[in-house]
Amino acid sequence: MNYELKRFLLLLLSLLLICSFAFAAPPVQVQTKICLYCGAETASDLCDQCHELAEAWTCISCGTRNLSDTCSQCGLERQASLEQQAADPRPQLAFPAVRFLAAAGDPASLLRLGQFYEKGIGVGKDIDQAVSCLRRAGEAGYAPAWIYLGRLYDAGVDMKQDPAEALNCYRKAADLGSPEGNWYIGSFYEEGTVLERNYGLAMDYYYMAAEAGDADAWMSVAYFYLVGNGVDIDKDKALEYYLKAAEAGSHLACDYLGYLYMTGSIVPQDTQKALEWYRKAADLGNPRSMYALGYAYQCGQGVEISMEEALRWYEKAALAGHPTALIVYNAFK
Ligand SMILES: [Zn+2]
Ligand SMILES: [Zn+2]
Repeated sequence: MNYELKRFLLLLLSLLLICSFAFAAPPVQVQTKICLYCGAETASDLCDQCHELAEAWTCISCGTRNLSDTCSQCGLERQASLEQQAADPRPQLAFPAVRFLAAAGDPASLLRLGQFYEKGIGVGKDIDQAVSCLRRAGEAGYAPAWIYLGRLYDAGVDMKQDPAEALNCYRKAADLGSPEGNWYIGSFYEEGTVLERNYGLAMDYYYMAAEAGDADAWMSVAYFYLVGNGVDIDKDKALEYYLKAAEAGSHLACDYLGYLYMTGSIVPQDTQKALEWYRKAADLGNPRSMYALGYAYQCGQGVEISMEEALRWYEKAALAGHPTALIVYNAFK
């Protein structure tokens, strides 16, 4: 081969190389979708996981499988059906709809999906994914997601505990108008670890939270008067704020008032009044009060002894999540 030809071939080769870089095809993007039957991510129309038609949705009201936007049987809209399904308290049922709506950016579904990742429901437990879902929901303006994320940083169970980051999350929730966000900021001023302790500011934030509808926040105000945090101890004022919390619908306050009357702290001992407050708290779903009512019937505290009534309350308390009610229920059943 002569020199000129060699040079020409070399030039051609380098040109070809340059062109192959310049016009290289972009990496192939595999479009994935969420299977509406099982919630898995799938690249094909027939779900890789469950082999059902991934786009078909099951009508929440009549059970018909559909491809069109309205149910062929009952006329329910696909979006409405998916939203109802996503709100189902049973995670397994809700999962496919939650994952589908979350992929479309729905903040409430992103929060729920974050919780699924946190606990490993329907998906592998993955705390990084959980945090990313919660942040996306929060950044879309959904305060409950910031509150939930703040609690995760605060607790540091599956992740590094980070109270400063928790506070950031609570501030973001508060900026979105969340009363709970304000309550948490108050609690940081009360605690004095991340923020310098300041009972005055803590009280301000508790007030803000309470007045914006966080009934439990009145209890924090009451507690400050009870123990004299930044104010003179004033038991009457404390009682006034516990009552305010109860009136605003706080079951915790009703339960606590029951305890105060039963033990005669701050107020004169009054078993009947205590039982009244316990009943109110129990009606609002408070497990501790349900248990206290069971105990009152078991021992005849202000009522005729009735093991039947006692068991009824212990059962309710157990179902509401009281930690020892089930043991007591099984012992006396
Ligand atoms: Zn599937
Ligand atoms: Zn239908």
